[in-house]
Amino acid sequence: MAIVTRFAPSPTGYLHAGNYRTAVFAYLFAKHSGGRFIVRIEDTDVARSKPEYEANIFEALAWLNLPVDERYRQSEHRPRHRELLEKLVALGAAYVSKETPEKEGDREEVIRFRNPGGAITFTDIIRGDITTDVNDLGDFIIARSYDEPVFHFAVAVDDSDEEVTHVIRGADHISNTARQLLIQRALGFPTPLYAHLPLIMDSSHKKLSKRSGAKALTEYRDLGVLPEALLNYLSFLGWNPGDEREYLSKEELIEAFDLVRVQKGSAVFDEVKLFSVNQHWMRTLSDDEFFSRLSGHLPPNGFTPEKIRKAIPLLKERAQTFEEARELLTGELSCLFEAPEPERERLIAKELPDCPEMTISALQCLLGALKAVPEGASAEAAKEALMPLADAEEAKQKGGRGAVLWPLRYALSGQDRSPDPFTLISILGTSESLARIEKALAILNK
Ligand code: GLU
Repeated sequence: MAIVTRFAPSPTGYLHAGNYRTAVFAYLFAKHSGGRFIVRIEDTDVARSKPEYEANIFEALAWLNLPVDERYRQSEHRPRHRELLEKLVALGAAYVSKETPEKEGDREEVIRFRNPGGAITFTDIIRGDITTDVNDLGDFIIARSYDEPVFHFAVAVDDSDEEVTHVIRGADHISNTARQLLIQRALGFPTPLYAHLPLIMDSSHKKLSKRSGAKALTEYRDLGVLPEALLNYLSFLGWNPGDEREYLSKEELIEAFDLVRVQKGSAVFDEVKLFSVNQHWMRTLSDDEFFSRLSGHLPPNGFTPEKIRKAIPLLKERAQTFEEARELLTGELSCLFEAPEPERERLIAKELPDCPEMTISALQCLLGALKAVPEGASAEAAKEALMPLADAEEAKQKGGRGAVLWPLRYALSGQDRSPDPFTLISILGTSESLARIEKALAILNK
């Protein structure tokens, strides 16, 4: 039997990471056994469903790299729902009920399911047997009219018509299952298997929700989180591969995924952890790949690609998202792209405030030593050539290492915060570095 799973979101808002965790599990489970993954847009709430939310769902799934085998829109099944409502009424399993409207919008007539009573048990793949006393449900409403089935009815029919074998969804739907089983049985439909996933909490242990500030999934894309990182992270919200591995590619996830290892207890969505997983995936990218993914986050024409490429090791070390990489490039690393205008007062080593001559002579020595460093040298090579000057006995007497390294770093960067001077030289290149030091000397000699 081919496995068929579905993701059945309501397009009534931008969905957050917790919603997509359901899609991820349904997808991985289907693909683990070569099955199909269906998306059914549950748009029967006409007033709240919006095309832009639906479009955003498919955009997010495509970005996460979860290809959809079949798409449905619940509202397009209305004729089928009507046909089956009529059938249930004809069978006597449901009936048109006269109601006394109590509040605005209440109907005078609805369709109710004739509750057979007793208990109903289903075996949840994750949670085991779940029994519901159906008497408590009364003759529940399955449609407001023949053309307006309620959620439970539409879900029960569609799951069966779409030949869904495994209904994988959030634990908040456990209490809906009994009604859906009753409807399926009354229609003579087979029952799918159910797996109710653990709820996802936010870092303050409240249920993750848009209302309490959860981001739309696509906001993570805009922040420069990699889809492979998000997929990896979402897969671990309530599941793990049962070994030490923390970083799994999509193929590895498909291979490792099973429902049996899904936990019952709730999972916590932790953005800090997500960003650190993202940093791991960013670091695995080749420099070319890193550059091409970063490009989308950069202002047009602002940066020279050669220098960005040279800064990639630094970005990989420091940035957890591509937006952070952009912030570094436009902030702390902006000195790589624009020659600084160092201030005279600040060039002078703090250790020797009254002796600009010392700073001048330190920079002159560095200039001489740097001339011997070939263009394109590594940070280590620059350090090897220059560090002895900062460590020399003479320097020690004249304010120590800092009195040499500060003017150098500030001459190169014009900033209080920047990478170390040797890294700067390796990225700027020798001749650009020499020009910056000469400029600083000219300022000091004014
Ligand atoms: N449309 C429902 C929701 O967005 C899901 C229904 C289901 O998975 O059975 O919560």
